[in-house]
Amino acid sequence: MNITIEPLGPNARAPLAEKFVFGKTFTNRMFMQHWSEERGWHDARIVPYQSLCFDPATAVLHYGQEIFEGTKAYRRPDGHINLFRPWENTARFNRSAERMAMQKVDPEAHLEAIITLVRLEHEWVPYGEGESLYIRPTMIATEVSLGVHASRSYLHYIITGPAGPYFSAGLKPISVFVTDRYVRAVRGGTGAAKTGGNYAASLLESERVKPLGYQQVLWLDAIERKYVEEVGAMNIAFVYGGKHIVTPELSGSILEGVTRDSVLKLAPDLGYTASEARLALDDVLRDIESGEITEVFGTGTAAVIAPVDKLGYCGKDYVVRFAPGPVAAHLYKALTDIQYGRAPDPYGWTYKIEVPGVS
Ligand SMILES: *Cc1c(COP(=O)(O)O)cnc(C)c1O
Repeated sequence: MNITIEPLGPNARAPLAEKFVFGKTFTNRMFMQHWSEERGWHDARIVPYQSLCFDPATAVLHYGQEIFEGTKAYRRPDGHINLFRPWENTARFNRSAERMAMQKVDPEAHLEAIITLVRLEHEWVPYGEGESLYIRPTMIATEVSLGVHASRSYLHYIITGPAGPYFSAGLKPISVFVTDRYVRAVRGGTGAAKTGGNYAASLLESERVKPLGYQQVLWLDAIERKYVEEVGAMNIAFVYGGKHIVTPELSGSILEGVTRDSVLKLAPDLGYTASEARLALDDVLRDIESGEITEVFGTGTAAVIAPVDKLGYCGKDYVVRFAPGPVAAHLYKALTDIQYGRAPDPYGWTYKIEVPGVS
């Protein structure tokens, strides 16, 4: 792909000069390209980070054709930078595009855009423990029309910004509220796509339970409201007897997390067994009470592993035996060691970006 790189504007800031806030501090540059029926993907550019300007009748603002991704760049001990399984995120971006009737990107061009952007902004990849550069690829429908149909034009852009450690003082457990009042996604719906509407549908319940002391909502399947699906914007896993890790099987309404998949692949090499199964909430609550389930944790790019200390359901708290427990801590260390390049990567999960001037 031919990416035009525009010079920085007068508002460019010195990298990491000020205290950064995840999700609010962004680097000086962004990537963007456009799609039209006549020209396909075109005009790929890295430009100064800037506001976007839209007609009020732009399709995304009305019918929600929007997808995104979340991945990170990690500072290695040798000063170079790692991406973690970026191929998986790229493939998922295209699966999301397909589900939302949007245009797919060329996976190699998308990856090249990420690599070029991170290399240009390499000074923004922080050096602190647990810190990283968050990468947010996005695509939106840009046709100006209130007609209900797949948009005939799209904007694909990538923004990046520094992220602190999700847990600043060790693995701090989260409390989870099990809701059977609302659902996040339904089989046949868009739950397996990373699209804004899934998040919008989750906000009412997650805001309601916050003042009750729960940081996340555990979502059940939408049809029977009986099977465990996801926790907030993370996948969920249960540890039986300190040895066996079980995560809900992909149902069509569960987002296929890269971290979830990495845990499944890593676990056997760390001495655990791992499997996917249809998990009934009743069984899970019973096994938490009996102590057969020793740990519960969420998995996702942001936290990597987020231990859960209790599940609130029907006015009762089911307290998990260990939070954080040894399996969560072990997985967290093993995964982050690979991500940051502190340990060998026998799985071929990392892509190293060479930083100019670092030997
Ligand atoms: C992004 C996301 C996840 C986690 O996926 P990772 O690839 O591990 O970051 C899980 N559930 C939902 C709903 C998500 O949007």
